[in-house]
Parts: sequence; structure tokens; C-alpha cells
Amino acid sequence: MFKNKKLNFLILTALFAATIFIWSTIFSLLSGDVLKVVFFDIGQGDSIFIETPAKRQILIDGGPDKSVLEKLGEVMPFYDRSIDLVILTHPDSDHITGLVSVLEYFEVGHILVSGFKGDSAVYSQWEKIIEEKKIPLTVAQAGQKVIFPSGAVLEILWPDQSRMETISLANNASVVGRLIYGNSKMILTGDIEKKVENLLGENSDLRADILKTAHHGGKTSTGEGFLNAVSPEVAVVSVGKDNRYGHPSREVLDRLGNIAVYRTDEEGDIKILTDGNFFNIITER
Ligand SMILES: [Zn+2]
Repeated sequence: MFKNKKLNFLILTALFAATIFIWSTIFSLLSGDVLKVVFFDIGQGDSIFIETPAKRQILIDGGPDKSVLEKLGEVMPFYDRSIDLVILTHPDSDHITGLVSVLEYFEVGHILVSGFKGDSAVYSQWEKIIEEKKIPLTVAQAGQKVIFPSGAVLEILWPDQSRMETISLANNASVVGRLIYGNSKMILTGDIEKKVENLLGENSDLRADILKTAHHGGKTSTGEGFLNAVSPEVAVVSVGKDNRYGHPSREVLDRLGNIAVYRTDEEGDIKILTDGNFFNIITER
């Protein structure tokens, strides 16, 4: 336990030390300070930008190519070249590739990874840049909490490093987090499959208003049990148009039933704002 606390503290210190900027935007319908989450439409892959009410910026995954840089240009002021925390959920190319460009072009305060190593050229490049730029890095462990000034918290639900030996697939090592601000909760799942979804359900409170469906809506994820445990009102599917995997699968869309589904291939960038009580969802298309 002590070890985890120490890691939390390290992350916390890095975030406090990071550059702050003021960015004022008018959010109708929402009162007070607002947490912003943007699911970028970056084709077949994941890339999620988070800005806390105290203007801490987090990027989870970078999508399959450099287009994430353009996307960041749309949500960050041109003079802001720093990101407080970058999370690589797992080293598959549709998550890591854009992040390599992000590490090149931005000052990154801290990196959180799953601990699952990749064997691609892109992964080697990723490790090389982290070493060259001496970016502080933490391996995620279920139970950690990243506490941001302003009260937003990212609870790390997975991976559990003591169970990593049973994980042979990068997808199932994905960093899973629950982002909490006030009464608003959002689960971000990387590409985990049902096997891990079920393990998560064993001892965690998983309830959330918004679920990023795992693995681009693929049928081996978003199982009934997990869906019941999370019980979301809204599901976001990050997926590319006409992708060769057939994501999202009909089965998953059926399982989602009455849950409101937002898809990046159809709606473009999906921006979710919350004041800790209410959500405002704005889509590009
Ligand atoms: Zn993926």
C-alpha cells in the first residue's frame, strides 16, 4: 500500500509543477468549473483529451498517426506546448503511434503506462524519446489515484501488476481508469476484453455515467455483466469509418440497447463537458 501512495505522490508533484494557463470558454447550461473530455475522431484507434477545471491537460493514447497533433491544435492554444500527463493504455499501433509525435512536439510532464512492453519499431522509438527527454514514468497499478487540483480524480482500475503473468494479450493489459468529477463519472477502458471486464467486476464499484466502450466496440468486449455493473447512460465508441475489423460489432450495439451511443466515425470529435452534476455533449457532426 505504501508503495502505491508514494507513486501517487510522485504523479501529484509532477502535475503541480506543470505549466498552467488560463483558458476561458463559455459553457452554457453548466455552472461553475467544468471538466472537459474530447474523444478525437482520429480514425481506427483511440485518442482522448482531458482538461480539468484547473486546466491540467491529460492525453490518453494518440491514435494511429500524426493527426492527433492537428486535433490537439484545435483544443489547446497555439502557445501551449505542454501536456501534464500522457497515458499509453497499451502499446498497439492504433494507440501508441500518434503519442510518439506528441512526445516529440510537446513537453510532457509525466507518463503513465500499463507495463506491457511492445516489440514494434514505434515502441522502440517511444522508449527512446522518453529516455532522451527524461520524462518521469509510472507503471499503472489498480488502486492508484491521480488527484488533480480542482477535485478531479482519475482512479486506476487496471492493470493489477500481480496478475500480469496471466495476461498474454496487450489489449488485456490496457490501463483502465475511472475519471470522477463531483458526481460525474466516466470509465475509460482502452482495449480490454471480457476476461478483464469480469475481473474488474469482482471487487470494484464500476458505476459510471459514461462508458468508453473497450476495443472500438469489438464483440469480445463490453459484456453483459460489465455493462450492468457500469450501468452507463452514454456509451462512446472510438472507431474508424469502414474499418477492416467490422468495429463496432452489431452484437455490442445490441447489448448497448437503450444507452445513448456516440461514435467518432459518425459524429466526428465528441466533446463532453461536465460541471460535476450535468453533462453537455457536443459533437462535430
Ligand atoms: Zn485499439
